[in-house]
Amino acid sequence: MSELHKNYIGGEWVGGDARPNINPSNTNEVIGEYAQGTAADAKAAIDAAADAFKTWSLSGIQQRHDILKATGDEILARKEEIGRLLSREEGKTLPEGIGETMRAAQIFHFFAGETLRLAGEILPSVRPGIDVTITREPVGVVGLITPWNFPIAIPAWKLAPAIAFGNTVVLKPADLVPGCAWTIVDILVRNGLPKGVVNLVMGRGSVVGQAILESPKVSALSFTGSVGTGKKVAEASIAVMRKFQLEMGGKNPTIVLDDADLKVAVETTANSAFFSTGQRCTASSRLIVTEKIHDQYVEALAARMKDLVVDDAIKQGTHIGPVVDKSQLDQDQNYIQIAKDEGGTLVAGGHLVERENPGFFLQPALFTGTTPDMRINKEEVFGPVASVIKVKDYEEALAVANDTPFGLAAGIVTTSLKHATHFKRNAEAGMVMVNLPTAGVDYHVPFGGRKGSSYGPREQGKYAAEFFTTVKTSYTQP
Ligand code: NAD
Repeated sequence: MSELHKNYIGGEWVGGDARPNINPSNTNEVIGEYAQGTAADAKAAIDAAADAFKTWSLSGIQQRHDILKATGDEILARKEEIGRLLSREEGKTLPEGIGETMRAAQIFHFFAGETLRLAGEILPSVRPGIDVTITREPVGVVGLITPWNFPIAIPAWKLAPAIAFGNTVVLKPADLVPGCAWTIVDILVRNGLPKGVVNLVMGRGSVVGQAILESPKVSALSFTGSVGTGKKVAEASIAVMRKFQLEMGGKNPTIVLDDADLKVAVETTANSAFFSTGQRCTASSRLIVTEKIHDQYVEALAARMKDLVVDDAIKQGTHIGPVVDKSQLDQDQNYIQIAKDEGGTLVAGGHLVERENPGFFLQPALFTGTTPDMRINKEEVFGPVASVIKVKDYEEALAVANDTPFGLAAGIVTTSLKHATHFKRNAEAGMVMVNLPTAGVDYHVPFGGRKGSSYGPREQGKYAAEFFTTVKTSYTQP
């Protein structure tokens, strides 16, 4: 058995039951053994974070800057190695894994800069002679609970601002992908982060996650994952009156209008729907296409899909890696059957493929002849499965696009400035893309949704200060 990757609590590496981290491209391969934390570990981590908060919240911004900068530097220097680990544990292709690793490094660099830019305000009082200042302070112990589909970027975009603004942290990554989170914590620690500032507790959501939710000592909780778990986070947080932020699922639309450049439409939607194995929260699973371009577009997209190579994530030439695990594969196949039963026509893919090693390989599936009321167009599949909805014109397309309880990302492919402009204003989504795939790649701008996809302040960019700081108004009579 390989060496156990331990949890990190109060400045010590702490063991526990081992859980194998399995490669979805080759289920015979164990990437490493990772400790499974207990509720007691979570509690010890929260206590350590509460203790460390007393000094870290008052630490100098140069110290915070230097640790975040050095962490970003090391992640960048090791991007091939960490990107490979990411691709092996999660299943996205090696270029995608390296790209996500670079993004994590850039996030650390961005927040290294933000430590030096945190500003307040001085205002005149309505009462002459009195000074009013508005300052931002750290929130306290912050719980970070992350999903499996962005194993390094999401922990990075929660950890970096939490640390930058003087909070202390308990991080619980998804059970399926502990490797990248463990690596970031190891890098932070070796680059001088004082003990107790970040605590890593890997393990089951129902055990470690639940213990974090239930602790009144956790002052703020940042969660990314499914709607079901998000609701538990909300209920538990309201019970103890803590600040919380949720980024959850989506049923993201991309509209293709008659005036679209066909090539752009095909490339944009193939990427939006199927890259990263469709396991992006921003993936477009509803392709809403106006009637004049519909047949041509479907034919061209189905032809493009024949060229998509589904194989081992780290093999050169692979476009689509495996599905993350057996239960997600079962869910994808289940929805493919549901779409067939509902009367959708499967025009490409949807079948399992065998490769050199045993893995969860699914050829991306495209359905046509679907209508907005079908389950395939209402529920998040979270796999390489997309469906086409034919509509008459832009107005109908917009109405269908917005007819969802979700609101994370929305795209349009068009050469019409009028329609692009109208769509940007009227799409009910937190992120809108014109002639681009629905993927939130920029690290310096806000990321997040609206409606049932999100709750609370935005993540990333300077907007992250909204969640990771709390505002104080002070009055002084000199
Ligand atoms: P999930 O909700 O199953 O798990 C997310 C995290 O919550 C994991 O760390 C898990 O262990 C933990 N958890 C589970 N039960 C818990 C409990 N009772 N208490 C506390 N923590 C608990 O989600 P997932 O399957 O890991 O991720 C896929 C989902 O995440 C999809 O719905 C996807 O759309 C969403 N997602 C959203 C965004 C976004 O920014 N909106 C980004 C990525 C993924």
